[in-house]
Amino acid sequence: HEERLLEYQITVFGQNERLLLIRDCTKMRRLERMRQDFIANVSHELRTPLTVLSGYLETFSDYADELPAQWQRGLALMTQQSARMEHLVCDLLTLSRLETSDFKAEAEPINVAELLHAIRLDALALSGHQHQVLLDVDQQLYVRGSASELRSAFSNLVFNAVKYTPHGSTIELRWYYNPDGAFLEVKDNGPGIDSKHLAFLTQRFYRVDSSRSSQTGGTGLGLAIVKHVLLRHQGRLQISSSAAHGSCFTCCFPLSQTLLAHAS
Ligand code: ADP
Repeated sequence: HEERLLEYQITVFGQNERLLLIRDCTKMRRLERMRQDFIANVSHELRTPLTVLSGYLETFSDYADELPAQWQRGLALMTQQSARMEHLVCDLLTLSRLETSDFKAEAEPINVAELLHAIRLDALALSGHQHQVLLDVDQQLYVRGSASELRSAFSNLVFNAVKYTPHGSTIELRWYYNPDGAFLEVKDNGPGIDSKHLAFLTQRFYRVDSSRSSQTGGTGLGLAIVKHVLLRHQGRLQISSSAAHGSCFTCCFPLSQTLLAHAS
């Protein structure tokens, strides 16, 4: 027998009246699980044929010079699109793992400053050193959790800042804490995002400008991954953006999830 999932809501009217609302969410949860399983299975099944395709395309590319120009263009396009599909399948698998697996984040403290230094170098390589990436980090502030998940979330935000801002833009990474929590800010001075999109950005496949996103190799899954990783670390993502000041994505963690290492 399936365990039932009931949602209760109590509304208080005046002094003596209460309204109790009970919603049976069992069927909704079952459908949600079916959706998650379906996506995980399809992604798994797509991985093998894609590996074969991209393997052969790589071999053919070695002989591209001997092909007519039109075929060379076709080959380049096929290689680009199969890389995009691999990226998409990889993001789908990551997302379904984040949604379905129990949280087994090693309770190990993660040195966020170290993680950000490495991500900064990757971001500079991605941008061909056409962006400035500035770091202002608390070296002693650690987060308990999964290094690989946090790395993937933070990289998504920093790489987005590179992808969606023009050359010459500045990206600032700030990692600090105050009595309200610990915060990682990824701030850019790019074109910003219209406020009507902000509430939807963490939905799967949501993209502000799909033609621009496909040029940048985007899948529309990056921010959904960030949201899930943060939820698994008791955190949340805050987004603010304006055309005048650019975008700022803030990962907020409760202090209970962090610790201060003593400088040696
Ligand atoms: P994608 O794979 O398309 O990059 P994301 O979920 O990472 O998907 O981001 C969703 C959308 O948010 C992007 O398509 C892009 O339009 C917008 N976006 C994300 N980061 C920025 C940024 N720093 N500046 C401007 N737009 C951004």
